Amino acid sequence: MGTSEEKLTANVSRRGFLKGAVVSTTGALAAAAAPYSGFGAGEAADTCEDPYAFLEPLPEVPEKDIVSTITKDIIVVGAGNCGHVAALTAVTEGASVLCVEKYDKEFFYSERGDIMGGGYPQEVGTVNSRWMMKRGAPYIPYEDFANQWQRQQASRCNPDIIRDFYRHSGETIDWLISDVSDELMSQAVGFMCPPTPEFKAAFPDNSIGGWYSWIGSIQFFTKFEKNPDGTWPVRKRFWLKICQQHIEKAKGLGAQFEFGQTVDRLIRNDKGDVIGCMAFDSSGKYHKYLGSKGVILACGGFEGNQDMVLAFANQQNLYYFGYKKPTSAMPQPGTGEPIEAAIRIGALLHLGPTGTGSGRIAELPFRAPYPQFNGNGERFANEFTLSGYAAQYQPDGLYCQIGDNKWREYMKLMPYGHGSIDVVNPAFEYFAEQVEKIVPGDPKGGYVPWTGGAELNSEVQKKMRSNTWCANTLSELLDLIGYSGQPKANILAGIERYNRLCAKGHDDDYGKPPQLMWAVDTPPFYGCSGRSSKSTGSVTWSGGLAVDKNYNVRDRDCKPIKGLFAAGNAAGGKMVLEYGPVISGIANGTAITTGRLAALSALGRKPASKQEKGE
Ligand SMILES: Cc1cc2nc3c(=O)[nH]c(=O)nc-3n(C[C@H](O)[C@H](O)[C@H](O)COP(=O)(O)OP(=O)(O)OC[C@H]3O[C@@H](n4cnc5c(N)ncnc54)[C@H](O)[C@@H]3O)c2cc1C
Repeated sequence: MGTSEEKLTANVSRRGFLKGAVVSTTGALAAAAAPYSGFGAGEAADTCEDPYAFLEPLPEVPEKDIVSTITKDIIVVGAGNCGHVAALTAVTEGASVLCVEKYDKEFFYSERGDIMGGGYPQEVGTVNSRWMMKRGAPYIPYEDFANQWQRQQASRCNPDIIRDFYRHSGETIDWLISDVSDELMSQAVGFMCPPTPEFKAAFPDNSIGGWYSWIGSIQFFTKFEKNPDGTWPVRKRFWLKICQQHIEKAKGLGAQFEFGQTVDRLIRNDKGDVIGCMAFDSSGKYHKYLGSKGVILACGGFEGNQDMVLAFANQQNLYYFGYKKPTSAMPQPGTGEPIEAAIRIGALLHLGPTGTGSGRIAELPFRAPYPQFNGNGERFANEFTLSGYAAQYQPDGLYCQIGDNKWREYMKLMPYGHGSIDVVNPAFEYFAEQVEKIVPGDPKGGYVPWTGGAELNSEVQKKMRSNTWCANTLSELLDLIGYSGQPKANILAGIERYNRLCAKGHDDDYGKPPQLMWAVDTPPFYGCSGRSSKSTGSVTWSGGLAVDKNYNVRDRDCKPIKGLFAAGNAAGGKMVLEYGPVISGIANGTAITTGRLAALSALGRKPASKQEKGE
């Protein structure tokens, strides 16, 4: 990939980054970005290195290498979940649109394609959509939702994004599926996990120790019911099919899609407004795309850009250098060139921490907060909250989780959060069959897919795989997992203590809500082990460009950069600390919603809020 490779090798290495940072204090790189002036003219300003300054200016593209120039109203960068919706919105509104996507078309739509192609996103979470409410999803009240979202993210999110998501995500998904055939949509599943009578009795106001999650997610899986001969059908995901349909629809309305071109720079006019971008193709030639009404960055995050991660993703950075080198990362397509380009012209990143840092943690397939123990055999967290963070601080990141044969009942108390298993769906029967296939005492254990039988991209499958062992005694189970000596004795004692706390109905150690304190006492027992340092990243990216209420990217004085918009994972302030479990599928839900609103904003048609209308 000609220029793409040059670009990759031109990317500064970690050493280069450090060197660059030192040079920047002498002013040599100061031209790359406006110097940070927050400290005024004091001593601090002299010693403070501008974290944005490591990005060196890109060399000018010679005129001879620019092979096309196209002008449209709107240029969308990235055709993923956010970008294709932005393009469809803009063209539906009558604007002329060009959407430029770095992957070539074949890869983009293929099984291996990272997001759209692999078609991973199977759950799309939105608020109060007609589709979900018709199927019995309860109305979600605004104050509860907005406050819970901020609470789960330490109040660091962009309140306008939360408000927009609450107000417009339901109508966005209803609009997107309005032209999908009834036949296909009849396959979709409203993710109702689990509102069982048991859940309602245990948590009558939906609060699990102050944590809430709501029903709002549609699963785009084909129906999964046992065949009359006792076999199971192959369960297919079809969100990708719907996205493709929308790309074709946008094309039919006149939108232009260019695949296999990577945007790496923005074009500004004399006033500093963004008026376009440049993208290179596989032959290294450049294409100039001018957008008279705006350029929308819908390029995902920058999780695949090591230099950016090291420079800005504080959580990943501390983790990477302070702990263990990760051996894998979740596959996501965000290489962040357009975000680099925005930073080069003075854009601000939304304050973090940036980047999810919990890593993948091995869990029992039940997605229930059974007790976890570290490599020394000590329990270390309330397993209902995100114990993955606490797991990182265990020696060697090692831990295990131990469950028992009450899993069917225990799972009925799981909230509606991302990754919970829908116990009222026929897919649960499939899940249960897979669990029961694990033979007690078998040293090989077994693997239970958490997707209810849906096909997963094989790469993802490998990364998410974690073994589950089964045994009739706890001692035998710990042998199978690989614990021995004092750590094994500690776990056995720890389970006894945990069971005493369950009997008392009070987790004196870590405060797990009493309704979830179920003794581990009924054989066969189940166990899995994990090492939290194995991978970084998560299924979405937290952190991106700071945007205002119109999705206009902010400069470092927090003023909008005219002509430049960001949405989806390219915009920061959605989920700042972690993938929020407020509604399952919220990553994709925010991508489609903010993509649509950014397009409407660029066209000056974003619906005004009641506050703005003075109502
Ligand atoms: C395994 C996995 C499972 C997931 N499951 C779910 C789920 O069930 N529900 C859910 O809500 N979310 C899920 N997510 C997360 C969700 O897919 C993302 O949060 C969402 O896709 C973000 O949308 P986006 O459009 O901002 O970015 P993306 O969908 O990543 O799209 C960005 C696009 O921009 C393109 N691009 C990048 N750089 C450039 C460039 N320089 N020039 C041109 N184009 C560029 C990329 O190729 C890509 O096509 C999952 C993610 C993973 C990895």
